[in-house]
This record gives sequence, C-alpha cells and structure tokens, in this order.
Amino acid sequence: MDNSKKKLKLKVSAIKEGTVIDHIPAKHLFKVISILGLDKIDNQITFGTNLDSKRLGSKAIIKVSNVFFEDREINKIALLAPHAKLNIIRDYAVVEKRIVETPEKITGIVKCFNPKCITNNEKITTCFSVIKKSPIALKCKYCEKITNLDQIKMV
Ligand code: ZN
Repeated sequence: MDNSKKKLKLKVSAIKEGTVIDHIPAKHLFKVISILGLDKIDNQITFGTNLDSKRLGSKAIIKVSNVFFEDREINKIALLAPHAKLNIIRDYAVVEKRIVETPEKITGIVKCFNPKCITNNEKITTCFSVIKKSPIALKCKYCEKITNLDQIKMV
C-alpha cells in the first residue's frame, strides 16, 4: 500500500454510528450515492474510490454517519453493485453485516432507455422485471425493451 492510499484509508476509516457500504464498483460510486439520496442529506459522508479490489478490479467504499438503511433502499444498490456489502456500525464497532439482494421488480428508480417508451413521454412510473442480476438487465413492463447496466439512468 503506498502512502496516498494509506492516508485515504485513515481518513475514511472511523465512524461512530452509521453504515459502511463496501465493494461498490468504482465507476458506479456516484450513481450509488444518487440512488440512496446521499447527495441530498446533511449527514457526514466520506468515501474512497479507485481502491484495489481483487474481485472488482477497482472498488469504492462509502461511509455515512447516523444513517441506517431500510432493506428496500439497500436493494436498490443491487442494480449497480450486486456484490456490495454493508456494515452497520454502533459505537465504532461492526454490529451487523448485510449483503444486498437484487429485487425481482424495479419500480420508479430507473428510466427506460427507449426514448419512445410511454414512460418517457407521459407521467407514468417506470416498472421493470429483472431478467438478469449481474450485470443487471431490466425488461420494461410497457415497451418490453431491455435496459442494461450501461444504459441505466436514474429517474
Ligand atoms: Zn419502456
């Protein structure tokens, strides 16, 4: 580990209460932040990105103080980070570890990539069935086109 990485690790290491989300593919870090609405809250958030990972090549980690996610929210992460792991921190210690599970259906989180789809032209909430989990592939309930990982945009 070189010095800059060591420093980063120290900087993002300790939170007293909150959630650590690890094993996020580095390139999806900002989308994960947006999916969880972390760009809209006042809590202290630290993240590290482009960290070495044997499994992902390059990973990101997010630490959020005083936030504990519902299962429903956690499972949104699965869209982009199916191997993400969450550590729940209480008084500086990991009290619980959780993994994400990809839901069967995705409602109102992502856009259909098809510009002609009714959901992109009228006020209709998107709805997809998950036909593949990693990397994700979503079938639109309305136009039946497949939106895949590279095409995912958040609503
Ligand atoms: Zn569609």
